Amino acid sequence: MQPPNAVFFVGLVVQFVLRHHFIERTKSEKKKVRQIDRTEKILLAIMLPTALLLPPLYCFTPLLSFADYDLAASIRWTGAVIMVASLWLFWRSHVDLGQNWSVSLEVREDHQLVSHGVYRWIRHPMYASIWLWGLAQGMMFANWFAGWSVIPAFAAMYFIRTPREERLMCDEFGDRYREYARRTGRIFPRLTKAAKLARLPTNEPESKGKLSP
Ligand code: SAH
Repeated sequence: MQPPNAVFFVGLVVQFVLRHHFIERTKSEKKKVRQIDRTEKILLAIMLPTALLLPPLYCFTPLLSFADYDLAASIRWTGAVIMVASLWLFWRSHVDLGQNWSVSLEVREDHQLVSHGVYRWIRHPMYASIWLWGLAQGMMFANWFAGWSVIPAFAAMYFIRTPREERLMCDEFGDRYREYARRTGRIFPRLTKAAKLARLPTNEPESKGKLSP
């Protein structure tokens, strides 16, 4: 196997181990809202094969070789660096969300609005990490299918799920979430002066009754 492909699988295992750890850590949380409807399931069913099935098919079988192309080693290793950045953001956003994290759209009984750590800058760092992962996968695999299919699959998930998730957060936290949304970007930090000023006070893990500073 070519070295960048081997590095990809190491990254995939790291991502799997991190996910498993955070699933274990949060599985006892009691949920008061769960939005695991048909749309969510379809989006996951589209996403999972691009991330888990196509990479081994590409690396261990000749089935996808019709879609191979030449790719410079420098691009493939740049992809590996982007993958490391993606894993860092994936880990950091799980740590910052803490017990409030869930695989699907859920609100737990004592849900806290997180606006510290990486959430101080962007509202969807975990999704940003998946965009980065899709880019890294495209740059590391010299194959149109195995490399680039994550991007359209995740785009469908991101553009359908994010507004639903933000509505859920608005229903739960009202003006506190709307104010938080005004000073942060979805996956890119807001760089305007007003946003910078609004960000000045740091807010550590908040309790629900307390207003955002
Ligand atoms: N979209 C976020 C979180 C993904 S995990 C990201 O990309 O980082 C999905 C769950 O996180 C949702 O069910 C929601 O309950 C929770 N969540 C999202 N943003 C949150 C926030 N700022 N504070 C607390 N919980 C949040």
